[in-house]
Amino acid sequence: MYNKHMLTYLLVGFLGLVFGSFAGATVWRLRARQLAEDKKEGEPVDAGELKRLKPLLGHGFSNDRSRCLACGHELAWYDLIPLVSWATGKGKCRYCKQPIGWFEPTIELLTAGLFISFYHYWVSGGTVFSIELILWLVALVLLVILFVYDAKWFLLPNIVMWPFIAVSVAVALLQLVMADNFVESALSLLWAIVILAGLYFMLWFASRGAWVGFGDVKLGLGLALLLGEWQLAFLTVFLANLLGTIIVIPGLLSGKLSRKAHIPFGPLLILGFLISLYFGGGIIDATADYISTTLMLY
Ligand SMILES: [Zn+2]
Repeated sequence: MYNKHMLTYLLVGFLGLVFGSFAGATVWRLRARQLAEDKKEGEPVDAGELKRLKPLLGHGFSNDRSRCLACGHELAWYDLIPLVSWATGKGKCRYCKQPIGWFEPTIELLTAGLFISFYHYWVSGGTVFSIELILWLVALVLLVILFVYDAKWFLLPNIVMWPFIAVSVAVALLQLVMADNFVESALSLLWAIVILAGLYFMLWFASRGAWVGFGDVKLGLGLALLLGEWQLAFLTVFLANLLGTIIVIPGLLSGKLSRKAHIPFGPLLILGFLISLYFGGGIIDATADYISTTLMLY
């Protein structure tokens, strides 16, 4: 029984590596498309970066094989095994010997860690293998792509955002259908959307897009749909802002960050979301206990 359990975790981790590899390749393809589109619209584009990523363009999404970003050499199937190819090639391209860097293996390991931790959370909640679990894993892969893209280039691409929202809607509908109390769950979901998407919409509206982008509003909507509970949505906003403050203040004090520096909210929201998802129940219970004991003292 124990071995069977271990095997499932290993399998889920391996799936994470494979989808992490897909996420890493997708990030670069999306970046190449973005640069080509920007150039077409006459916006300033880093010519060196566009030239380097150009081999990724021109093919459809489906038959586009991954290529080396340094030499453009098309990669064989044995160059595409997550982590293994990277480790056996000592982090260098087999063809041009240029270092590949830590980007790919980091995303692969990150996604594997995310898959394993989510699966653990899922089975410890007593739920078994289901369509909902698959939907969640798809949502997590899309979140990895959004996280990396926003952290690197301050943008949440729509081509990833819309599928993410579609998957989130499906998860929310499944949760509502299976809910014990439909009205209560629907209301909680509605409030989650108001808190997460509504707050970022107001910030976007009030600042005319200067403080947060509209991508953050859409991300907030998707995350609220996945969480489904207003308490968790509130905790996500709180944690995202707390993390932002912790990260930003040292930068401001040391003078490395200017007051007008652009801070991507997407990664902060996603981190806040993950902490709320895994530990939110415990945090909320502890807070409620603390409040009720404090009130009893007076
Ligand atoms: Zn190469």
